[in-house]
Amino acid sequence: MSNIQTGLLMLLLTAIGVIGYNVWLRETTPPPISYTAFLADLDKGDIQKIHLRGGEITGENKKGQSFSAFSPDLTGLMPLLLSKSVEISAEPVEPGLGGFLQSLIPVVLILGGWLIFNKSQSGKGSGSGSGSGFGRGKRSPLLPIGMSRITFADVAGIEEALGELTEIVESLRHPEKFSKLGGHIPKGILLQGPPGTGKTLLAKAIAGEASVPFYSIGGSDFVEMFVGVGASRVRELFTEAKKNAPCIIFIDEIDAIGGKRSGGSASGSNDEREQTLNALLVEMDGFSSDETVILVAATNRPDMLDPALLRPGRFDRQVTIALPDAKGRLKILEVHSKKIVMALGINLSAIAKSIPGFSGAEIANLVNEAALSAAKHGKQAVTLSDFEEAKDKIVMGLARKNAVISEKDRRVTAYHEAGHAIVATLLPETDPVHKITIIPRGRALGLTQQLPLDDRYTYSKEYILNRIKILMGGRVAEELIFGRLTTGASNDILSATEIATRLICEWGMNSTIGPVAHMQDQGGFLGGSSTMKPYSEQTAQRIDREIKKTIEACYGETRQLLTDNNKFLHTLAEALLINETIDAEEMSIVYHCYMSDKKIEDSLKSHPEETKQA
Ligand code: ADP
Ligand code: MG
Ligand code: ZN
Repeated sequence: MSNIQTGLLMLLLTAIGVIGYNVWLRETTPPPISYTAFLADLDKGDIQKIHLRGGEITGENKKGQSFSAFSPDLTGLMPLLLSKSVEISAEPVEPGLGGFLQSLIPVVLILGGWLIFNKSQSGKGSGSGSGSGFGRGKRSPLLPIGMSRITFADVAGIEEALGELTEIVESLRHPEKFSKLGGHIPKGILLQGPPGTGKTLLAKAIAGEASVPFYSIGGSDFVEMFVGVGASRVRELFTEAKKNAPCIIFIDEIDAIGGKRSGGSASGSNDEREQTLNALLVEMDGFSSDETVILVAATNRPDMLDPALLRPGRFDRQVTIALPDAKGRLKILEVHSKKIVMALGINLSAIAKSIPGFSGAEIANLVNEAALSAAKHGKQAVTLSDFEEAKDKIVMGLARKNAVISEKDRRVTAYHEAGHAIVATLLPETDPVHKITIIPRGRALGLTQQLPLDDRYTYSKEYILNRIKILMGGRVAEELIFGRLTTGASNDILSATEIATRLICEWGMNSTIGPVAHMQDQGGFLGGSSTMKPYSEQTAQRIDREIKKTIEACYGETRQLLTDNNKFLHTLAEALLINETIDAEEMSIVYHCYMSDKKIEDSLKSHPEETKQA
């Protein structure tokens, strides 16, 4: 070592020593923490600067709080300090100065060089801890690591998915147990399902259950303006995570980066996305089995993902989370209603049954809206009517009870809705009518609500055709009674066309077209498929013809049904005009009255003499 170098070093040491001494003077006696606690803080990137004096560490965290600790192993500590860009100062220990100082010299030298190197590289220097700015060279902001306090108990109604994940939680808790048996811990878990089904919640619950650190990042956070930033952010994330293993990396809405690579297009943002995706693929392949880092990703659009992501060894575990069924909805309701004050005797299971198709997020919203409604009415507890109000609000937009509607419109609406309800009641294989109303809400003038008895997973052809007939019931009733058509049936017609199209193109239930799939790209969840069967213009025409034929046939049958039962139609429509809303029970009373009248009438027709004699 030359004299100049030693001189420089002494200068550096003196300078550092002076600064360090000042810091040390200012915080006379910083509270001592354990070396483990210090390491944990350091790992989190919480440490701003430290001062070394022998094994004694004094320093300051990013919040400006000072602390002290004792390190048994300074040499081992150095690389860690460097990787976290902690500002370091050191001071010789008076008595045994020589030996210790000698061992510190190379370290400080490297350190000084590093600091200078870093300074010249970065625009802003170290210490700007928060925010998510971008820019090359600047050390990226703190990665969003944290611990999750959500557990599986907070996630309800998706037992199947939970079952698939317990093993993964176990492997995070006891990685050694798994590797000892030579087991292969899955690296990637893809949670897929419609929005609001609890994917984000579930990812947090996995981390909470396993009590491991949790990095959470949105897919779109990677996509920046400058090419290469996203990719380097991915690499950084994985490097960081490996140091903290076992841990979980969660990438929400991964479709933002994991979408299919185009290959051809030259647009800049695509380029960036593809680079990011490539970096992700490389990192996923680079996991070794002794690093228990599990990547959890969520998406609403698994169909959009690049197939490369789904290859074995990457997201080899795919967990589909479906919308909850009635039982699941009940469980989710139970979880969320614990957070509010409920009136006694509320039948949650009836509520759960009345909200088919609600996602977990919508149920959470329902409970919240119900609580708001109770508060608005100055109640002590949330009652059933609050739930009804909340439900109606969510389902149909705000009630417009006081909107002015002409008497004529009201009549047309009453017959229209009665038409739907009667067809649903008279035909077999249909869901029972739950509620009919002519109170306008949102854009709808009225509504007929049907409730399935159970959650159905498959539907018969008869059920589907009857659905179309029920939809036609509104228009047919208007035509029969008023002899003219209105626009009120536009939604019904749209739905009927959609159902008929799927009946033919997707479910293969049309004898002319046959059991061949002619999928349309619907683009929804699990909707489109990359292997769509192309079909000719001729087939398209045949399909169109069959759709029209199906709907027309349904229309004709519905017309006959309502003509035959036109007394029922009048009775129900008049009842609606008076009551505005008719529930299932009232509906069944009207129905039974009508049926017993009809029986007497029919027997009069078929055996006129008998009755005369009686
Ligand atoms: P996703 O990520 O699938 O769109 P989220 O996890 O963001 O859905 O869900 C939003 C909110 O809805 C959650 O924070 C939670 O309050 C509620 N939620 C959704 N699914 C469930 C569930 N299965 N159990 C309990 N709450 C749920
Ligand atoms: Mg989400
Ligand atoms: Zn209608």
